[in-house]
Amino acid sequence: MTARVLVVDDLPQNVKLLEAKLTSEYFNVLTANSGSEALEIIEIARPDIVLLDVMMPEMDGFEVCRNIKSDPKTAHIPVVMITALSDVSDRVRGLEAGADDFLTKPVTDVPLFARIRSLVRLKMAMDELRLRQDTSEQLGAVAGEDAIARDITGARVLLVEDDELSAELIAEFAAESDIKLQVVQRLDRVSELGAQEPFDLIMCSADLATGDALRLVSELRSDDATRTVPILLLIREEDNDRLAKALEIGINDYLVRPINREELVARMRSQVRRKRYQDRLRATYRESMSMAVTDPLTGVYNRRYFDVHVEGQQSRAASLGKPLALLMIDIDRFKQINDSHGHAAGDEVLAEIANRIVRHVRNFDMVARLGGEEFVVVMPETDEKAAHGVAERLREAFANRPVKTSGPAGEISVTASIGVAVSEDGSGRAQHLLARADGAMYEAKRRGRNRVVLARSEGATPAVA
Ligand code: GH3
Ligand code: MG
Ligand code: MG
Repeated sequence: MTARVLVVDDLPQNVKLLEAKLTSEYFNVLTANSGSEALEIIEIARPDIVLLDVMMPEMDGFEVCRNIKSDPKTAHIPVVMITALSDVSDRVRGLEAGADDFLTKPVTDVPLFARIRSLVRLKMAMDELRLRQDTSEQLGAVAGEDAIARDITGARVLLVEDDELSAELIAEFAAESDIKLQVVQRLDRVSELGAQEPFDLIMCSADLATGDALRLVSELRSDDATRTVPILLLIREEDNDRLAKALEIGINDYLVRPINREELVARMRSQVRRKRYQDRLRATYRESMSMAVTDPLTGVYNRRYFDVHVEGQQSRAASLGKPLALLMIDIDRFKQINDSHGHAAGDEVLAEIANRIVRHVRNFDMVARLGGEEFVVVMPETDEKAAHGVAERLREAFANRPVKTSGPAGEISVTASIGVAVSEDGSGRAQHLLARADGAMYEAKRRGRNRVVLARSEGATPAVA
């Protein structure tokens, strides 16, 4: 994931320091030395996230933040305020100005990268949601609706904590924000609960006497019922090794003890919002199902939807100068599957293949059935290397496990050939990208099927179909 980060600070040495850190992690860095310069850059360059110093002469960070959040064209850009250590009143003012998160000076690496990645992921999901909403509106499938909500009242949160004082304190904070908090003390209760209750967020202490919190995190991540629920870890300041491990296993965010009320609320809010956007993505998807934009056999989008939506994705990628990747997937010798096992078994294979595709790509990637046994995946902000990786993973997901069918055919082995085409800066026509992926897919067939072929890069002579 490469993101465009705008660093705003009046002190050049602070800007330099952050710029160096971020560049070394392959973020794209823009810089501004004042509030007004920041607003100008945001207007033109539309960064993915803004790191904003609070104390600046003339226009301070709060005012800049209010400006960003009051303009509908920029309100969706996440803003992280950088405040002096433990300055609680700054945090309150930051929240009121609409800030999405906070970092304290001096800014250290683990929290910096964790916050940026978490917020940028949220933004990507939101961007795709807005675009899908647009497409569905264009096709007359759903009514327009404001997708951005900051309010998280009524959110259902599970807290796993065996320290009673800490649990009480958090319960108090949650009640003030009208959050429905359920507290459990024992780990073994969690998976039962998670399966029954649709939680918006799970908070978990890293220091449980009853068991290993990191094991719990990894279980929550692999369980279908809780896979998409954000996890916020409560951890001690000096526990950096376990924190790094936890981030790797898949926590979404963390809070350092002693817990500060504003910080707790801000972090709960961004995680719950993220969960709700994800849920809305799925709901929008379900709504449009009835409206003839999805394929009834497989449940993925149909050609009609693809044709409209891919244009929107392409022009967004072009305006951001970001890559757009497209996979063309064609099942190998599918006619033989029909011929030997019957059309009904063939249909089951198609549905299962679509299912595997959806499970292996991100929420905001688009999966469509173009017709017959051909599927396409469109992946925003995905470069050639990443796209090739996804294609290879998909190929394995088909080839490594036969499809179970209900009829006498039983298990049927299925492979597919996949063509990958990428526009590195989002430029070019979407239908041209499709044609390149198609050419690469045919090349994969020619080379023996069950393989991935990358289309030659833009500008070079396209692979001949
Ligand atoms: P290749 O490896 O070259 O792609 O061979 P193939 O047999 O997969 O390709 P071909 O295009 O010759 O055959 C595709 C078959 O897919 C032919 C058609 O009967 C079948 N098909 C198309 N739509 C459906 C469908 O909705 N259900 C079923 N069961 N089969 C379908
Ligand atoms: Mg075909
Ligand atoms: Mg085929």
